[in-house]
Amino acid sequence: MRQVRSIIAGLVAFLVALSFVPTGSGIAAPAKKPALVKPKSKPKHRPKPAPLPAVKCEKPKFRIFVDVGHTPESFGALSARNDTEFGFNLRLARLIVGKLKSEGFAATRLLVSEGKARSSLLRRVSVANDARADFFLSVHHDSVPDKLLEEWEFEGARSYFSDRFSGHSMFVSRQNPHFAISMMFARLLGKELKERGLRYATQYTMPLMGRYRHPLLDRDLGIYSYDQLVVLSRTRSAAVLLEGGSIINRDEEMAMNSPDRHGLIAGAVAEAMKEFCEKRQ
Ligand SMILES: [Zn+2]
Repeated sequence: MRQVRSIIAGLVAFLVALSFVPTGSGIAAPAKKPALVKPKSKPKHRPKPAPLPAVKCEKPKFRIFVDVGHTPESFGALSARNDTEFGFNLRLARLIVGKLKSEGFAATRLLVSEGKARSSLLRRVSVANDARADFFLSVHHDSVPDKLLEEWEFEGARSYFSDRFSGHSMFVSRQNPHFAISMMFARLLGKELKERGLRYATQYTMPLMGRYRHPLLDRDLGIYSYDQLVVLSRTRSAAVLLEGGSIINRDEEMAMNSPDRHGLIAGAVAEAMKEFCEKRQ
């Protein structure tokens, strides 16, 4: 199956790379083949979406959209053991939705999108905007730029990994109409993750990340800005993107495969949302 795997890996790389154009990305994880994409010199000007008024939080009515990053067809990064990022995202997002509902956030919705990367980005944002979402949380898992990949064999197939970096991270957009509220939630979540002994991914400030470098807005909690990301800048509600952890790191991939780690993260999200809601009553 080597040939099939390499074809799949190539296709994934292309689709992931496509989703990294500055105005169209729905992911924070670097692409497998960043060289395939020429960055646009000037992002298209788009008017900011009209913000919805920041409503008070009543738990049963608070419309949280938990967005599963990528689609079955365009599944994001490939893990060190050749599993799709979409699968990891779906498992974690489902756990988060379950925890939020059990905490009384009855109007929480799981948002699963289909189709090609770019069109799915716009579609997922319009679904949330049309439904007057109060909060948008996009769930992803991390990888590394191609140049950092090392080769190994897994189950007889040529595979790729990088054990160099690990950890979760959060992204917000300063173009989001509710940036301050987005940041408030990200800080609460960062604090919950830290209290559970989890460490954030620090590499996004490093020069070796090239065009995937992002400004670190909170050094203590691991919150970066990713201003032009569609799912953060085009949503009319507050929005945060969470990278649960690195699936290209072989140890962390195993942790991400365990219900314990995902459960810990989902618990942190639910606790942060409770605090967030209390602050906005
Ligand atoms: Zn992603």
